[in-house]
Amino acid sequence: MSDYLTEIMSQVKKKNPSEPEYHQAVQEVVESLVLVLDKHPEYRSAKVIERLIEPERVIIFRVPWVDDQGEVHVNRGFRIEMNSAIGPYKGGLRFHPSVNLGILKFLAFEQVFKNSLTTLPIGGGKGGSDFDPKGKSDNEVMRFCQSFMNELFRHIGPNTDIPAGDIGVGGREVGYLFGQYKKLRNEFTGVFTGKGLNWGGSLIRPEATGYGAVYFAAEMLTTRNETLEDKVCLVSGSGNVAQYTIEKLLDLGGKPVTVSDSTGYVYDEQGIDREKLEYIKHLKNVRRGRVKEYTDPYPHAVYTEIDQQADYNPLWNHKADCAFPSATENEINEKDAQNLLKNGVYVISEGANMPTTPDGVNIFLQENILYGPGKAANAGGVAVSGLEMAQNSQRLPWTREEVDKRLQLIMKSIHQTCIEVAERFGTPGNYVNGANIGGFLKVADAMLDQGVV
Ligand code: NDP
Repeated sequence: MSDYLTEIMSQVKKKNPSEPEYHQAVQEVVESLVLVLDKHPEYRSAKVIERLIEPERVIIFRVPWVDDQGEVHVNRGFRIEMNSAIGPYKGGLRFHPSVNLGILKFLAFEQVFKNSLTTLPIGGGKGGSDFDPKGKSDNEVMRFCQSFMNELFRHIGPNTDIPAGDIGVGGREVGYLFGQYKKLRNEFTGVFTGKGLNWGGSLIRPEATGYGAVYFAAEMLTTRNETLEDKVCLVSGSGNVAQYTIEKLLDLGGKPVTVSDSTGYVYDEQGIDREKLEYIKHLKNVRRGRVKEYTDPYPHAVYTEIDQQADYNPLWNHKADCAFPSATENEINEKDAQNLLKNGVYVISEGANMPTTPDGVNIFLQENILYGPGKAANAGGVAVSGLEMAQNSQRLPWTREEVDKRLQLIMKSIHQTCIEVAERFGTPGNYVNGANIGGFLKVADAMLDQGVV
């Protein structure tokens, strides 16, 4: 890396101590940008990178709420408004006990490039809380969401900042958050995406991230004249992204064999078919149970508890062709990456954000496999969020076919951008450089046009 970029990284670490995920996300992008800066000194002189790594605004607030027993709890709420050069801030809210400033900054930073890749006019943001919805009653979740919105409402709006879901924030939470926003503002606007269908939501939005990750894998495979037909696929997670990844894999003839949650994973050698997928959806979305219970109706499947001491995740150590990490960040480390290759995996499409550690990414790049990083592969979710915003502005819902067609076109276009940009900057087939540089150029040019703001 050039001295200039090394200096940028040392500033990032100094200014943002104890935020390793943020350092990791910036480092990965900056490594790709080495290829750009030689050809484009104007970005350097306008200090575009220095401005990109400093959030436009960070909001941190107290979220007090009362549980069903009358006890008071206090959580911390965040919204990172990272970059609005090409459109209003847009990105999900995450409710998980691991949430902290550094994790949300990494997610907001990635979101800027991802949103740019979608071709839609949306800036980047992210938010959330260290609140854990697991084990809480619906009323507790509602009271928490209302308290969270009592502060957030003054910072967001349909032309300012439009949140959506992420880990721990699904249809239920978006409903409570939107309801409170509407009450406080006294207006019904498209301020959230991922809304319910009968109150402004878009068809295919729940499916979009998972479907998009599978469409992206299919696009990568076309470069080798192959399809997903009969491909054995490892999927992690069992939430929104994992469920719809499995659904689309089944549509395209793939054979998903795993699901997981934060306590363990299930390996079903016979394949997860539609009936089993319906069981998983009901288990996770309605009963809010654990994947371990999959073996109750399907005892031939093998459940393995997570071993926190182990230096690898056995989910990634099964014979397969493709992998769809769809749970959380850094869930594939160097050893997992080696195990994946050893077991024959040569297509990786990241539904989750930054699920592979830098050492793991390097292994995939060295081996020249079809590796689609999250910024590109999971952009289908935010893309359909953008389409939900368009429908809200028009006050016209589109059909399922219309939204799905546009989603497919967008994933195709993202794939094409990655391929073309990677080639143009001398690293053909490198989707990491393609996504980072492709996302960067549009935002950087907009920043140049808009002056030093
Ligand atoms: P959900 O909350 O619906 O599901 C998350 C799944 O991942 C659950 O199975 C959860 O297990 C598991 N998980 C969460 N944290 C951990 C952890 N620390 N270790 C192991 N497993 C974990 O979230 P989504 O499906 O929406 O999100 C999954 C990933 O996809 C995230 O990285 C998110 O940022 C990314 N993403 C999501 C988009 C969306 O539209 N929803 C868009 C783009 C990216 P458990 O049930 O035990 O919590």
